[in-house]
Amino acid sequence: MKILVINAGSSSLKYQLIDMETEAVLAKGLCERIGIDGHLKHTPLVEGKEVFNEDLAMPTHSEAIAAVIDKLTSPQYGVVNSMKEIDAVGHRVVHGGEKFASSVLITDDVMKAIEECIPFAPLHNPANITGIKACQAVMGKVPMVAVFDTAFHQTMPGKAYMYALPYQYYLSNGIRRYGFHGTSHRYVSARCAELMGKPIEELKIVTCHMGNGSSLAAIDGGKCVDTSMGFTPLVGLPMGTRCGDLDAGVIQFLMHKYGYSIDEMLNILNKKSGVLGVSGVSSDFRDLDNAAAEGNERAKLALDMFQYWVAKVAGSYVAAMNGVDAIVFTAGVGENSSATRAAIAEYFGYLGVKIDPVANSKRGEDIEISTPDSKVKVFVIPTNEELVIARDTRDIVG
Ligand code: ADP
Repeated sequence: MKILVINAGSSSLKYQLIDMETEAVLAKGLCERIGIDGHLKHTPLVEGKEVFNEDLAMPTHSEAIAAVIDKLTSPQYGVVNSMKEIDAVGHRVVHGGEKFASSVLITDDVMKAIEECIPFAPLHNPANITGIKACQAVMGKVPMVAVFDTAFHQTMPGKAYMYALPYQYYLSNGIRRYGFHGTSHRYVSARCAELMGKPIEELKIVTCHMGNGSSLAAIDGGKCVDTSMGFTPLVGLPMGTRCGDLDAGVIQFLMHKYGYSIDEMLNILNKKSGVLGVSGVSSDFRDLDNAAAEGNERAKLALDMFQYWVAKVAGSYVAAMNGVDAIVFTAGVGENSSATRAAIAEYFGYLGVKIDPVANSKRGEDIEISTPDSKVKVFVIPTNEELVIARDTRDIVG
C-alpha cells in the first residue's frame, strides 16, 4: 500500500509518498508560492530518478496537487507508474475542536465539521480544507483521512483544559485549551515506550517538542493529561517568535499606550516576540547560540528564559502525573541542540536525572542520552508526523 501524506498551508503544500510495506519514503516535496506564482521542489528517494526544482504556475492548490501527481508518476522524476498506485491520502488538519479525538475517514459530514472548526484556527483550517478539496478534484475517489494536531490532547481532563473564565464561554463558544503538535507528542511517546521495552500504559512521560513553535505534553499511561499550548498555539513556552504565557493586562497596557489595533497587537505577540523579541538577534536557536558565545547578553537571556520555561513546565507535569519515567526531546531544537538539552537537564537534578555527555553529543537517530544509573530516562527521538499520518490512514482505509 502506498500513501500520499499532504500538509497544506495557505500558500504552500508539503508532501511525502510512503510505501507502507517498508515505511520507506519514496518521494517528498514542497510546493511554494501557491496563488502567487508557484515553485515545486520534488525529491525522489529511489535510485536513478532526478530532483525537480523549478518554478511552475500554481494559481490554486489544484494545480499544485496536479503538479505533484505529475512528478510522482513521471518517467524522469517519478516513483510510481500511475496515480492508481496511490491507495490513499492522509491530510494533516490543524484543528479538530472537541469533535475529533482521533483520525477519521473524510466524508461530507467530516468536511462540514472541519469547516465548523475554522473559527478556532482561522489561518490553518481553511488551508487544510483547500488542500483536501484540491486532492479530491484531482484524485477523484481515492480514500482520504484527516489527522488532527489537536486530537491527541482530547484526553486531557477538565481540570487541565478549562480556563477559569465564566463557564458560559466554554459552553457557548468552546473556549478551552486544545493544545497542538499532538501528532508529534503521540509519535515520540509511543517510540519512547518501544525504546524502553515497556507498555506505554505503564509509563509517565514528558515530551518536549522544541522547534520554531514549542510545546510540552504530560503523557500518563499513553494518554495526554496536559499540554502547554492552549486555545491557540501562542501560549506556554516562549518560542521562536511567539510570546508564550502572558498577563492579559500587558496587552491592554500596550494597546492603550501605543494605540495598537488588536491585529497589530497579535502580530507583535505571534511574530515579533519570543526569543527573537527578547534577543533582538534571531528566532533561530543556532544564531542565538552563536551570539551568546560572542557575549551577547540578550541572546543569552533569551536562551536562559527558554530553558527555564521548559524545565518549569516539565516540573509541573511531574507534579501533575505524580512522577515521571522518561523525558523526550524532539523537533528542530530538541533533536539538534545538545547544549540546550544539557542546560535543561541541569534543572532535573532533583529527579536524579544524569546525562551522558557523549550520547548527548550524537545526532540524527533515536538516542538515550541519560546514563544507565539515571533515575529518569532521557531520550532524543526525531519526530515523524508524516509517518503517523500514513499509519493512521492505512489503519482507517484498511
Ligand atoms: P517548526 O516548528 O517550524 O517545524 P523545526 O522543528 O523544524 O520547526 O525547528 C526549527 C528550529 O530548529 C530552527 O528555528 C532552529 O532554531 C532550530 N535548530 C535547527 N538546527 C539546530 C541546531 N543545530 N542547533 C540549535 N537549533 C537548531
